[in-house]
Amino acid sequence: MMEEIVRNQTRLVGRGVRFHLGELLIRRGLLTVAQALEILAEQGITLLACSRCQSQYNVFGARDASFPCPACEGPLAPPPQVTTLEVRGTLNKPLTLD
Ligand SMILES: [Zn+2]
Repeated sequence: MMEEIVRNQTRLVGRGVRFHLGELLIRRGLLTVAQALEILAEQGITLLACSRCQSQYNVFGARDASFPCPACEGPLAPPPQVTTLEVRGTLNKPLTLD
């Protein structure tokens, strides 16, 4: 179990600390996805998914800006159902991928 957590931490280096803490808590059953999304929202982060390639991103300031998917330039929108906080990157102004 501990080994798995360490491996996950390593794999997630470079993504948001807040995000991967949330993801780990969800995997351990200590937090629901809905609770984690609320915490992200309080920090100004919205989880958006590409409707073309299904990649998920943490997006800062999504309320007043729209971003194309960095992978395929498809439109990003709130996913109809969030099952994981796993994201491909974090979008910001200017657009960057982790
Ligand atoms: Zn895409």
